[in-house]
Amino acid sequence: MSDHLRETRRRRTFAIISHPDAGKTTLTEKLLLFGGAIQMAGSVKGRKAARHATSDWMALEKERGISVTSSVMQFPYEGRIVNLLDTPGHADFGEDTYRVLTAVDSALMVIDVAKGVEERTIKLMEVCRLRDTPIMSFINKLDREGKNPIDLLDEVESVLGIQCAPVTWPIGMGQRLKGVVHLITGEVHLFEPGRNFTRQDSTIFASLDDPELAKRIGEAALAEVRDELELVQGASHPFDLEAYLAGKQTPVFFGSAVNNFGVQLLLDFFVEHAPSPKPRATTGREVDPVEETFSGFVFKIQANMDPQHRDRVAFLRVCSGRFDAGMKVMQTRTGKEVKLANALTFMASDRDIVETAYPGDVIGIHNHGTISIGDSFSQGETLAFTGIPNFAPELFRRARLRDPLKLKQLQKGLAQLSEEGATQFFRPLLGNELILGAVGSLQFDVVAYRLKDEYNVDAQFDQAQIATARWVHCDDPKKLDEFKEKNIMNLALDAAGELVYLAPTRVNLQLAQERAPAVRFSATREHA
Ligand code: GDP
Repeated sequence: MSDHLRETRRRRTFAIISHPDAGKTTLTEKLLLFGGAIQMAGSVKGRKAARHATSDWMALEKERGISVTSSVMQFPYEGRIVNLLDTPGHADFGEDTYRVLTAVDSALMVIDVAKGVEERTIKLMEVCRLRDTPIMSFINKLDREGKNPIDLLDEVESVLGIQCAPVTWPIGMGQRLKGVVHLITGEVHLFEPGRNFTRQDSTIFASLDDPELAKRIGEAALAEVRDELELVQGASHPFDLEAYLAGKQTPVFFGSAVNNFGVQLLLDFFVEHAPSPKPRATTGREVDPVEETFSGFVFKIQANMDPQHRDRVAFLRVCSGRFDAGMKVMQTRTGKEVKLANALTFMASDRDIVETAYPGDVIGIHNHGTISIGDSFSQGETLAFTGIPNFAPELFRRARLRDPLKLKQLQKGLAQLSEEGATQFFRPLLGNELILGAVGSLQFDVVAYRLKDEYNVDAQFDQAQIATARWVHCDDPKKLDEFKEKNIMNLALDAAGELVYLAPTRVNLQLAQERAPAVRFSATREHA
């Protein structure tokens, strides 16, 4: 097997999806711990809180703190290379999450045993379904009382519309939690708070029939789990690799992340069965990861990752070939050749200079405003990856400066922050207003705060009379000119210089569409 094929096959690139508070951060930390990427529990959380402990904007900053410090975490485990991509926690950052999910090959869903399937999990699941992303599930907080596990699996099946295949099964719950049975190997792993860090640090019985086990957990607990398993085996599905890979079935694990419990069983199963990088669609053809020539796309941009260095980093997922430091690639959108020097890799929390990277890996490229979300890079052939859209914002505000002399900084700040994709920045063709669009209102607060913090600009955002935006295209230049002339009041350019129609009302949009049948109005902008 060639190096390239071997390296590609051992990549596991995934994201954790969950409703806030289900335990995503804790589980992330435990996975890093088992992967040897961090030494001590508490460091992911510590970073999350420490960065701006004095800020009035604690809540916001904590949100940002997570995504800033741990956007991508890579660690080796059992001969595999695991790439864990972080998804932002707050509901307002849905678009950002959406795009991260376009860059992974599978997902891990965390569910709180007491709360069951929550609203945000449902939304994230819908996104995964668009690409049939394979999903494994971890039912967390078994050390607390929660829903009956059988009912919970029913809930997942009916609410999320995916088959459940329990791989581990809990023995008791809350105070009575004794351990889990592995339904495929038959092994019983005992729950021992403060332990379970490694296999050596766990008490494991070969099967439920081990006479020593009955002595340890008692006949009653044993009888109860046997009854339950009979029910489960009648009602649920056995693990089916193909159904999992097709996104139709989710293997389910039970545990308690904060107690390390059940996490290693999950991770072992994950690295064994989760998919390695898959082929990806471009406008012309599918690109297979084993192809020798390099290609990839940018799914995320983060400004000012390190406030000391004021850098902006574009996160590129490698889709085929091999990345070598200093290589020259073509940026599809501009047709320009770019030298990728000093790309970053993300070994857990540290950012190191990367020499080589393979399909499934994410590299960070320094961006000086020339790279946008959705940009593709390739060698030789021009390839444009599809499916990484910008969505039309739903909320609009007009930026107002307290100090008019700061206009230049405001423009720069808005343009740079909008590169991250959470907000979109529009300059109307007429006048010199600056309009900001977002999908959630929290974004305006974040932008106002960051403008002050990072660009020293005091700006306020006022309501703008805009209901929605559409990107407009027309193949006939004459008709486009006509359209522009008639609608100049409502037209603007987005940060990438694309023409956008800003509609004051939905009715207005409808009329504009009816009056200009040659013009296409699009609610998403695919970068190509
Ligand atoms: P996130 O918002 O999904 O990232 O959730 P966190 O990892 O921050 O966890 C939310 C809260 O649940 C924190 O207080 C954790 O300590 C707690 N937690 C996480 N895992 C467990 C668990 O297994 N058992 C219990 N009892 N609490 C947990």
